[in-house]
Amino acid sequence: MVEFELWWLLIIPFFFALGWISARIDIKHIISETTDLPVSYFKGLNYILFQEYEKASESFSDALRIKPDSLELHFIQGNILRKLGKIDQAINLHNKLLNQKELTDQQIESVKAELIQDFFTAGFYDRCEKLINEISNNQYEEFNLNILLDISIKQRNWSSAVKYSFEIEKKFGKSQRLQVSHFYCELALEELVKNKKVQSVKNLEKALEINKNNTRANIIMGEIEFEQKKYVNAIEFWKKIEFQKPEHFVLIVKKFLDSYDQLNKTNECLSQLSHYRESYQIDQIDKYIFDYVFTKNGAEKAEELARNNLIKKPSIEVLDQLFSAQASKDNKNQDIKIIQQIVKNTIGNRLFHICNHCGFKARQHHWQCPACNSWETLSTELIDSTK
Ligand SMILES: [Zn+2]
Repeated sequence: MVEFELWWLLIIPFFFALGWISARIDIKHIISETTDLPVSYFKGLNYILFQEYEKASESFSDALRIKPDSLELHFIQGNILRKLGKIDQAINLHNKLLNQKELTDQQIESVKAELIQDFFTAGFYDRCEKLINEISNNQYEEFNLNILLDISIKQRNWSSAVKYSFEIEKKFGKSQRLQVSHFYCELALEELVKNKKVQSVKNLEKALEINKNNTRANIIMGEIEFEQKKYVNAIEFWKKIEFQKPEHFVLIVKKFLDSYDQLNKTNECLSQLSHYRESYQIDQIDKYIFDYVFTKNGAEKAEELARNNLIKKPSIEVLDQLFSAQASKDNKNQDIKIIQQIVKNTIGNRLFHICNHCGFKARQHHWQCPACNSWETLSTELIDSTK
């Protein structure tokens, strides 16, 4: 019995030693993993964090030399190359991966998904569609549908954009209503170009059916009436904007004023506009009223209006109106002209329609942001970009 216990006492240090050795092997392994790859890998990540993509790309090239088998590293490098606009290099990288490596079917599809993004960025939409057909894994269904939707939007194929949006909404439960209602507006505009008013109106009605707050549809409906000189009808459509998104009214103020002018009901219009301005703080309505008074009643009346507004609510925009009225009234006063030009330039350099999604600044209003492609994210009013 005693001998047996002693035997155990002898073997315990052996197991300790074994544990120690195996622990060392593990640590060694971990250290080799983290020194192999991550020095350049973490450097690369750090550059990405500071948006230094050229340097990040160099670091990931180094990391790839050390770990040429890592799919993830290839994908990160591919993403950076796309970001840098080096699409041909991204395509090469992913094609080499497809040709050189022993990949599983699932890995092949993941490389193809990267290639699809390369081709989409490069505008090779036919190659995108071909590759999408080659991917069978359900995991990529939503990704593929979104690419097909983006291709349709880029190609301005609005019917097909509607089709893919509904498919995404049905299969993945993600609401596409806002953008689909814009696709119908785009279809309506295409019909208008072909002078097919009835078809155009049908599409606008569909836009409103899908998204009752689509102000763009009411703006276009009113414009169709306006073009036919049916001013009462036009005003009716534009008045609906107040109950949708009142801030969008600023997009149609000029034609709203012109319609009332045609009906000789300017005073009624001015009280309506003052209601919009006060109730919804749409300050830029003042600029349209100023332009209207300037054209209709002359510089003197416009100057008076600008001065009154300036006292009520001082701003550089109204100051610009005052100087432009004065400059027009007193042609020979060079000082006023110089001041007016300086004020105009100052405003011009800082007032923009700004996207609340990506921060893109535009002089013109767009329903779809040209930078991030989001719908209705650009401010309808001009915003001071310095604030
Ligand atoms: Zn944007």
